[in-house]
Amino acid sequence: MVYGVSACLVGKNTKYDGKNNYNQAVIDFLKDKEYILICPEVMGGLPTPRVPSEQLKDKVINQIGEDVTINFTNGAKQSLELLKEKGVSAVILKERSPSCGYKKIYDGSFSKTLIDGHGVFAKLAIENGIKIYTETDIKHIQEKNES
Ligand code: SF4
Repeated sequence: MVYGVSACLVGKNTKYDGKNNYNQAVIDFLKDKEYILICPEVMGGLPTPRVPSEQLKDKVINQIGEDVTINFTNGAKQSLELLKEKGVSAVILKERSPSCGYKKIYDGSFSKTLIDGHGVFAKLAIENGIKIYTETDIKHIQEKNES
């Protein structure tokens, strides 16, 4: 089985601030597995570093008020295509991201307020029957394996 993984979780500097979200549990989980990296925001043509964005209703707006919805939707579609090409049926996604977030995202006010919802890519992945894990899910799986 091949996994799709948010690139920032394995230490790629694709995050909006030019840094990453390195996660040891994810790295350990992937040690003996096949995986491909995706970053829907970079694949949608956004630079790194970039102005942070949040979803606001059916759009994605960055912190200086620019509408970046098209970048997010294009990046989500390209990521999905790549996953389909490689036969990926499960992904490990970074929580709370406006692209990769699963179940909880920020509310568009840039005040760190979480609401129920999925990132643009996560939503598309769900619609296409792809199983989603977050870094917290992987941590729990790893802890179970170790006990
Ligand atoms: Fe990480 Fe996803 Fe954001 Fe790219 S779009 S930096 S993979 S959370």
